[in-house]
Amino acid sequence: QTETPYYFTDAPAARHLIRAREKFSHKGTFGHALLLAGSYGKMGAAQLSGGACLRAGVGLLTVHVARCGYTIMQIALPEAMVSVDIHEQLITTLPELAPYTAIGVGPGLGKEPQTLKALDELIEQAKVPMVWDADALNLLSENPDLLKRLPAGTLITPHPKEFERLAGKSNDDYERLELARRFAQEHSLVVCLKGAHTAVIFPNGSVHFNATGNAGMATGGSGDVLTGILTSLLAQKYPPEDAARLGVYQHGVAGDRASRARSKVSMIASDIVENLGW
Ligand code: AMP
Ligand code: MG
Repeated sequence: QTETPYYFTDAPAARHLIRAREKFSHKGTFGHALLLAGSYGKMGAAQLSGGACLRAGVGLLTVHVARCGYTIMQIALPEAMVSVDIHEQLITTLPELAPYTAIGVGPGLGKEPQTLKALDELIEQAKVPMVWDADALNLLSENPDLLKRLPAGTLITPHPKEFERLAGKSNDDYERLELARRFAQEHSLVVCLKGAHTAVIFPNGSVHFNATGNAGMATGGSGDVLTGILTSLLAQKYPPEDAARLGVYQHGVAGDRASRARSKVSMIASDIVENLGW
C-alpha cells in the first residue's frame, strides 16, 4: 500500500515557501520575465497578467504583444517594457529569448495559425521555465505533437474545460483529478487544475489542494492574473513545484482580500492584482 499522494497548501505551508528579500538584493536578483499575451480585442489579458507578474516580485518584465497593443501596454503598465510583434493584431513572432529567466504564454492569445507557429518556435527555442495557459493550451490540444515536445517541468494552468480539451472527458471531479495525475506524470508537467479548490499536481503524481480563494474569482481575467504570478515566481528561480503551490495560494489570498474590500459580486480581476501582497 503506497501513501495517499494528497497534500494541502495552507498558510504554514505557504509561509515556508516564501523567500525573504535580502538587504543587498537588486532587480537583477529577481529575474526578467517575458509574457506573450494579448491580441486585438483581448489586450486586457496582457495588462492583467503583466500587472500580476510585477506585483509578484519580478525584477524586470517585458510583455510581447501585437502592434496594436504598444500604446495600451505602455500606458497601462509603465513598469513593464514592451516588445512589439510584426503583426498588427496577433502574436506571430518571438523576441530574442536570451535575456529572460522565465516565459509565460497564453492569456488573450487567440488560436490563429500564425500564433501556433510562434508557439512551435517557442518550444524549440525556450531554455528557461515556462507557464502555458489559456489559448496556448487550446492550441496544444489541437496539436498533440506540440504537447509531446513541451519541456519537462513546464507549468500548465487549465480550467476544467481547457483540461478536458487537453486530456479528454471525465465523469466527476475525482475522475478528472486522476486523469490529471496521469497527465502530469506522462508528460512530466506541473499541472494547476483550476477551480474552486485548485489542485497543483506534480510530475511525480502528488496532489496539493489550495486553501485560498473564493467564488468572487469566477470572473473574466482571474486566470490571466494567475499566469502572471506564476511567471514571476519562475523568473525569480522558484522551482516549478514551489512556484505553482505558492502562486496559486497567493492568487487566492489576493482574491480573498479583494472580496472583503469589494464583495464577491463586485470584485473584478484587476482587484485581484491590486490586492496582491506578500
Ligand atoms: P480562468 O477560468 O482561466 O479565468 O481562471 C479562473 C481562476 O479563478 C482560477 O484560478 C480559479 O481557481 C479561480 N476561481 C474560479 N472560480 C472559483 C471559485 N468558485 N472559487 C475559487 N476560485 C475560483
Ligand atoms: Mg483563463
